Amino acid sequence: MARIVMKFGGTSVADMTRIKAVAARVKREVDAGHEVAVVVSAMSGETNKLVGYAREASALHDAREYDTVVAAGEQVTAGLTALALQAIGVNARSWLGWQIPLRTDGVHGKARILGIDTDDLTKRMKDGQFPVLAGFQGLGPDNRITTLGRGGSDTSAVALAAALHADRCDIFTDVDGVYTSDPRIVTKARKLDKITYEEMLEMASLGAKVLQTRSVELAMNHGVRVQVLSSFVDAPGTMVVDEEEIVEQQVVSGIAYSKDEAKITLVKVADRPGIAAGIFGPLADAAINVDMIVQNVSEDGKSTDLTFTVAKADLDRTVQVLESRKAELDYKAITPDPNVVKVSVIGVGMRSHAGVAQTMFKTLAERGINIQVISTSEIKISVLVNEEYTELALRALHTAYGLDAA
Ligand code: ASP
Ligand code: MG
Repeated sequence: MARIVMKFGGTSVADMTRIKAVAARVKREVDAGHEVAVVVSAMSGETNKLVGYAREASALHDAREYDTVVAAGEQVTAGLTALALQAIGVNARSWLGWQIPLRTDGVHGKARILGIDTDDLTKRMKDGQFPVLAGFQGLGPDNRITTLGRGGSDTSAVALAAALHADRCDIFTDVDGVYTSDPRIVTKARKLDKITYEEMLEMASLGAKVLQTRSVELAMNHGVRVQVLSSFVDAPGTMVVDEEEIVEQQVVSGIAYSKDEAKITLVKVADRPGIAAGIFGPLADAAINVDMIVQNVSEDGKSTDLTFTVAKADLDRTVQVLESRKAELDYKAITPDPNVVKVSVIGVGMRSHAGVAQTMFKTLAERGINIQVISTSEIKISVLVNEEYTELALRALHTAYGLDAA
């Protein structure tokens, strides 16, 4: 007998037919004698609708009331899933975040989980009850409803799996696993049987929307075995596991891309101490995240170009902040460029293999693709290239690293 947390995303609970299919899927594990806890998202599209209502009610909405509104979608699916389970003879019971309680900090709209009280849950599970939890929501320090940020029910599920010491956390979604690259672009992309936490973390933060980044962090920190699989097809998915569990590690496991970034160059900015702080300090104060940064050595010792990337959505604000500091920063011009894509190759095998970056540079060069910015970490190399090369770059790299399906 195993203890399993099963999480179903928005498309898996999109309507009553799907919810009944979910109940049948859960019943299979129940019938196999497992202890099962279920976590559900809102029906797909529902949270967007609720966010829209909150914005319409008040542009500068009170974050606490926003959470009261957007948490509602999960209440509906938790209740309906419990009903659908009861209808097929499973002793299910719904739980909202506050009823458990799942405690969070007070950062409404993006709260972090502080702890889950599992005493009552475990007792009931031992007595043969199957809890169905509303994902995405928790209880803040002032006893108000909080939500965990978009995609947060993944994090609810992993946190619950950690708290219950579950053997596995199955995340059911509309894709059947984690792929070596986006299968819509790279037709030869393959589903991975296993991927390490660290690689998954990079992929999630690079915009592969399968799992909320925070859920992967949590899984890694608590050693929760996560499986990403589809609720539409009956097949094993991708296991997210510790590096040691992967016997034959590829040097590169995946190629990700993000069109969410924009590039900004400050032309001929003064080259003196304090300038970087003068640029990035005000951006941080404006809650603008900066990702890649390159600065050249100046030729004349007085000024140099500085290029960096921010989220596309922050581009206009970034330009505004920098323009308001023009006098102090002493630059000649700002050139914003939203038409870029960040392409990244990811793999823990990079730690022990040389020449991985060279393969990337050479492959792109052979296709005539100019690299604008490069950044690297221990297990990732990212380059910024013109957006029009997205498909070409992904496919060429996928082949170059030997990832193509046979
Ligand atoms: N329903 C929430 C959202 O759409 C949480 C989730 O689905 O994970 O972001
Ligand atoms: Mg999701």
